[in-house]
Amino acid sequence: MSSISQKQSDLIGNTPLLKVNSLSELTGCEILLKCEHLNPGGSIKDRAAKQMVDDAIASGKLKPGMTIVEGTAGNTGIGLAVVAKSYGLNMVAVMPSGQTQEKERMLELFGAQLKLVAPCPFADQNHFYHTARRLGEENKDFWWADQFENTSNSQGHYLNTAPEIYDQTKGDIDYLVSVAGTGGTIGGNSKFLTEKRPSLKVHLIDPDGSGLYSFFKQGEFISNGKGSFTEGIGIMRKTANFDQAKVDDAFNLSDQDVITISRYVRDHDGIILGSSAALNVAGALLTAVKAGKGKRIVTFLCDLGERSFSKLYNQDFLKEKGFNPSGENINDVISRYRSL
Ligand code: PMP
Repeated sequence: MSSISQKQSDLIGNTPLLKVNSLSELTGCEILLKCEHLNPGGSIKDRAAKQMVDDAIASGKLKPGMTIVEGTAGNTGIGLAVVAKSYGLNMVAVMPSGQTQEKERMLELFGAQLKLVAPCPFADQNHFYHTARRLGEENKDFWWADQFENTSNSQGHYLNTAPEIYDQTKGDIDYLVSVAGTGGTIGGNSKFLTEKRPSLKVHLIDPDGSGLYSFFKQGEFISNGKGSFTEGIGIMRKTANFDQAKVDDAFNLSDQDVITISRYVRDHDGIILGSSAALNVAGALLTAVKAGKGKRIVTFLCDLGERSFSKLYNQDFLKEKGFNPSGENINDVISRYRSL
């Protein structure tokens, strides 16, 4: 391949793996981060965006001059905007209000038309998902990406992210740890990696308020009633992408753990984790503590903290919500994880 990329979407993928030295030393395990923030749109959702668009073009559903429409917490919209510009397409992102302004701003900077809707339960027809679907149905030159049910999303990970991880580790991985929003990441990666390495164990990490944890444990989507300031992760229904996932165990971790881990990794490693990435790393720490020394654990740096700045790194916001914004003592977290 030429070393000069012809369009920005060609830069999606082939991300490096980075060791989290502080937590690896603390636990005696190797905790590795797949650096998905290095995609051109700045998040792991570039993977899904590219695969969904490539497949839609290949099937003839998406043609030159058309407009992509998608309901998004932000990152999928940004990824689709990057791909849309690269391919000469237009992009409309339907987003619930109240997500960080950082993502709204990036969407517009990348040239997407932003349509904000009030946040509401999924059953409400004004939900961002239904609004995007309707726009797709009502405009014949629109194509609705449908990241939740369109399995090109998980396929992007099955075909690209997971084989990269497999090559980078030479297949020597003991645990894969991941949060889930649409389930594309955990679906595609866990499917490929467990096919290649059947001994691999997969841990799903779920934020407060999401029903995936209870779905795994008891087969029903039940929220624990608490909210979470994490964005783009957690869900109250089964999706076709999540359906691909091979999960061995699930854990619910709190926003306070997201804060604690983000501060610890920032101060010791200089990595500014976004909130879903901080939950992933908390899950990797938990996995390391429970598994014992000598294991290799891979998780995802989904995006950087600059996209969560106004929540995760905003002391006033966190204090107002009753959190300890400096983070708890890491040894206390480790003792608690040991007993989970
Ligand atoms: N982290 C971030 C920052 C995200 O934006 C998303 C998706 N909205 C996820 C994680 C979850 O990824 P997936 O949709 O592949 O489950």
